[in-house]
Amino acid sequence: MLIEPNDKVIVVTGGSRGIGAAIVTHLAYLGYTVYGTYNSNPEQAQLIATHLSNEGAQVHFIQMNVASEESVRLGFEHIVKEKGRIDGLVNNAGITKDTLLIRMSEQDWDDVLDTNLKGAFLCSKAVSRPMMSQRSGRIINISSIVGLRGNAGQVNYSSSKAGMIGLTKSLAQELASRNILVNCIAPGYIETDMTEKLNEEQRKAFSDKIPLKRSAKPKEIASVVSFFLSEESSYITGQVLCVDGGLAM
Ligand code: NDP
Repeated sequence: MLIEPNDKVIVVTGGSRGIGAAIVTHLAYLGYTVYGTYNSNPEQAQLIATHLSNEGAQVHFIQMNVASEESVRLGFEHIVKEKGRIDGLVNNAGITKDTLLIRMSEQDWDDVLDTNLKGAFLCSKAVSRPMMSQRSGRIINISSIVGLRGNAGQVNYSSSKAGMIGLTKSLAQELASRNILVNCIAPGYIETDMTEKLNEEQRKAFSDKIPLKRSAKPKEIASVVSFFLSEESSYITGQVLCVDGGLAM
């Protein structure tokens, strides 16, 4: 496939697996220079980087723990030093630690909030300075429909995802005057390692509730990310778009 490069630099956190890997791949084929981050799994990141580089894409992976201010600072400093700009950030890194509230430990709560919500805060803060001086930028937060609807067994996760919606709307208002657009995608049931933990019965129960009667592939989220990065969405900011087969209607 012929890849036509453009000069835009996009960072995708948690780009080594699942939805993040699909976003990295999709953007790389569109010609963006993509920096994916991984936390604990360099082998998976390397596989994607090698495959895409062989196709002629501009893809780099760096280690970054989004829950650590130091790690985030070093990661973004490295990218700005190498490329001199950051045009887009996709806050995708996320984890679950599901259990009922009565069994949920403080650690379960802190781990999920630190990765999902504090991570998005730290990374948004790190890109806001270069984007403000460029007078342009796009930030896309990957929330979840459970951030809108809640879900039994996920008080930590759904709180973190609801928090990302507040983060999106506040940041959209703070950064609009600098032409930085901030939007949120709320996926429904997507086939990744995260949902692989579900058994067959749970999968069927989920799919039965979805108007489109199926789960989604990660690339069906990636295509919406590319829309939010493109000129086609130049008048949209502070919005939450559910990509869920109609589940959250
Ligand atoms: P996966 O579990 O498949 O992948 C998670 C990714 O996040 C990995 O690349 C992982 O890197 C990275 N990651 C985890 N912790 C950290 C950390 N502390 N710092 C940096 N990176 C980290 O998840 P999905 O692809 O399923 O989910 C991606 C996003 O989409 C998440 O935010 C999730 O909440 C959201 N989402 C997913 C849905 C689904 O149905 N799958 C539905 C709704 C929302 P490594 O492997 O190196 O640790």
